[in-house]
Amino acid sequence: MKKLINDPRDVVGQMLEGLVGLDERLALLAGENVVLRRDAAELAARGGVALISGGGAGHEPAHAGYVGEGLLTAAVSGDVFTSPSTDAVLAAIRAVGGQAGVLLIVKNYTGDRLNFGLAADIARTEGIPVEMVIVDDDVALGTGGGAGRRGIAGTVLVHKVAGACAAAGLPLAEIKAEVEAAIAATGTMGVALSGCTVPGADSAGFDLAANEIELGLGIHGEAGIERAHLDGADALVETLIDRIVADRGFGANDQTALLVNGLGGTPPMELAIVARAALAALRKRGITVRRSWCGSNLTALDMQGCSLSLMRLDAGRLARLDAPAFSASWQAGATPPVEPNRVQMAAGAESVEATAVELGPKARRFRHVLGAISHAIRVQEARLTTLDQAVGDGDLGFSLRRGADALDKAFAGNLPADEASLLRLVSQTLRRSIGGTSGPLYAIAALRASEVLRKTNDPSAHAWAEALTASCTGISELGGAARGDRTMLDALIPAAEAFSGAVGSGAPVSTALAQAVAAAREGAAATAGMTPRKGRSSYLGDRVAGHPDPGAEAVAIWLAALAHEFSEAGAEAKP
Ligand code: ADP
Ligand code: MG
Repeated sequence: MKKLINDPRDVVGQMLEGLVGLDERLALLAGENVVLRRDAAELAARGGVALISGGGAGHEPAHAGYVGEGLLTAAVSGDVFTSPSTDAVLAAIRAVGGQAGVLLIVKNYTGDRLNFGLAADIARTEGIPVEMVIVDDDVALGTGGGAGRRGIAGTVLVHKVAGACAAAGLPLAEIKAEVEAAIAATGTMGVALSGCTVPGADSAGFDLAANEIELGLGIHGEAGIERAHLDGADALVETLIDRIVADRGFGANDQTALLVNGLGGTPPMELAIVARAALAALRKRGITVRRSWCGSNLTALDMQGCSLSLMRLDAGRLARLDAPAFSASWQAGATPPVEPNRVQMAAGAESVEATAVELGPKARRFRHVLGAISHAIRVQEARLTTLDQAVGDGDLGFSLRRGADALDKAFAGNLPADEASLLRLVSQTLRRSIGGTSGPLYAIAALRASEVLRKTNDPSAHAWAEALTASCTGISELGGAARGDRTMLDALIPAAEAFSGAVGSGAPVSTALAQAVAAAREGAAATAGMTPRKGRSSYLGDRVAGHPDPGAEAVAIWLAALAHEFSEAGAEAKP
């Protein structure tokens, strides 16, 4: 397992040095893995209550990332997934504790309870008032058996409530009471899609099969309560929300804060999809989300998965969450709208008018040919994907397939009557449906062709030849590529030349098309020996040698499908 670390034994210290190095408002307690506010001593002298959290490392940015104004005064870090020692906690208490005292915010794990508890006891004998709260927001375990529930991601919101209380100048006992109420109002349920790998280990703590998930796991790579199958984000989120809502008795008209938390190996994209589902699931139950967060706040190293936390709010608690706070990783909560806002755009002036009620012969013909092309693209999607994977990013098959599907849809309804307008519709449809590089290039090709055909009412084969040439020019002007740069043009330009040549010498359209296809195929094959100068392949340089350009292959595919339609339809047919 590759990790960006040095010696596995140094990970915690070096991580904290990094965090403290990034932020002048923080300091490291010499000789300890304790991060504290640089102004902690002044705060204590002014009579402020100090807040200390902590636990094993591996949950970053918790907890050092939440040390700052309006949040924690200090965070104590143990080794990975290992409680900090009593002495480390004691050192933190001594460093930041004044007459007003210290509140320890501890996640419910035996090791943490013992070490923080003993340190509190010792500190009290030294005359420092110390109280401790235990966060046990994990709803997966029911009442949790002997050890009780675990503390997981809801702890981050608990930090915020505590931090706001302390910043407001409340005495220790009142802070403790308010924080305990906040803990009781919070439920969290997690799910893992993979195990996590501790630094220095070769592999993850547990393995999950391809479609298997672990429901209700903790944050240390320990197993969950139940293995299940992953059946899409929406269904999974329903399960998570069900458990939280049932456990903490959330119901219609409850006001809540929602925290969507990534476990370290889940990209923001997936977390946002989870958030979407969570908001919908809560809306459905009549539960109002007043504030929301979505990100990796309390993690389990590189574990894939997430948890959802829900905290019941009243006006007071909401104000605590909204109170100003500044730390490396705290960000102000957002306010979700009742329904996601959408801004409607006025219809563009450019859209193509579908005039005909009865489809004219040209439109019918056009639809037929496009149908053959999109069918061919669908059949060849996987091959195009493989080709693009070898030299690009692998999206070409999917992109063109999207274009094909969109063309089928756009040409299923009423259509304009003439070729120029039909091509304009092709351009518009491709532009809107194909992303990446191919989309705009195909769109300009169809647009330029459309402009050529607009000059004539009943385009001849010569006009189509001119249109094809104009398409090549358009692609070249927009994309800056010339023949020999190893792009789709290396198939399209030879095809246009062959077609023009054959039409010029009086050959029937089907023959001209057959020659164009042969030229496109030859051109596409020749790209395997070319050095890429444009597009994504150019980053690979000589490493693409031997592989044909996928865009050029795609040209050969759709042109062949088009030509095949014409040979079927008979030699007299006009394009
Ligand atoms: P990407 O994923 O790189 O955005 P696509 O996968 O949509 O692009 O298309 C890749 C193909 O686009 C290439 O195989 C090549 O034929 C073509 N291409 C890339 N750059 C250009 C360009 N500047 N001009 C013409 N064609 C290009
Ligand atoms: Mg691509």
